[in-house]
Amino acid sequence: MITFENIDVVYPNGFKGLSNVNLQINKGEFVAIVGLSGAGKSTLIRTVNGLVPFTSGTLTVGDVVVDPRSKAKLRRLRSRVGMIFQSFNLVTRVSVLNNVLVGRSAETPTWRSLLGWYRAEDKELAFQSLERVGIVDKAYMRAASLSGGQQQRVAIARVLAQDPEVILADEPVASLDPPTAHKVMRDLRRIQQELGITTIVNMHHLDLARSYADRVIGMRAGEVVFDGPVEEATDEV
Ligand code: ADP
Ligand code: ADP
Repeated sequence: MITFENIDVVYPNGFKGLSNVNLQINKGEFVAIVGLSGAGKSTLIRTVNGLVPFTSGTLTVGDVVVDPRSKAKLRRLRSRVGMIFQSFNLVTRVSVLNNVLVGRSAETPTWRSLLGWYRAEDKELAFQSLERVGIVDKAYMRAASLSGGQQQRVAIARVLAQDPEVILADEPVASLDPPTAHKVMRDLRRIQQELGITTIVNMHHLDLARSYADRVIGMRAGEVVFDGPVEEATDEV
């Protein structure tokens, strides 16, 4: 599903964000990327949807051979890969439903989305997505009025409305309290199991990975230092 072959990322200031990363992530897998702050987790996940351009190697996502210089390929890539962030990245002054409909924007002409005119089937999909994360009753509330955990669920629903093949989550629970963090991780795990979406989640703590992931990738200084089933991961990864 996702293949990294000898991937390097050199940032414009010359800093090496990734060094010779080789990985194969299978369809439907739930992978946790674990490492200290600055280890390169974000860089790794962001190369998958082209947010960070890799500088050498070959990256394949589904049937797309990623070329960071090709706008058309990046569009195709991003329509299949949904992204969730630590800070939720919602438009907090509009409704939950409108935030989720952003997930349909690739399917909607810009003038229609600016006017808030979405097709009935897009709205239907948005409601289904909200239902899947248990907040359909919040559809008409302003996103700003929701708790952190609820806002992250809106972000998950927005990604689901996109009907993705891959979900990338960059420290999705790092700003949530532990019980809420577990609930959001449980949602991501359930969605991966129900829909078979390949899911890659960055996190600081192996504990969370142990409870929810199939596989752990450990990173340090831009390199993969561990890659194996979650049962084999030790605190050194
Ligand atoms: P993590 O997600 O594990 O905390 P990151 O991938 O965010 O790690 O960062 C890895 C390293 O790359 C850090 O040292 C960070 O400062 C550096 N880095 C990240 N983005 C840039 C950038 N745009 N330019 C230069 N260095 C960067
Ligand atoms: P996080 O800890 O969530 O990975 P950071 O605070 O490390 O976020 O980075 C926030 C933003 O700043 C990111 O877009 C990252 O690429 C960029 N960045 C991080 N380190 C550097 C750096 N040394 N030089 C330039 N940009 C950086």
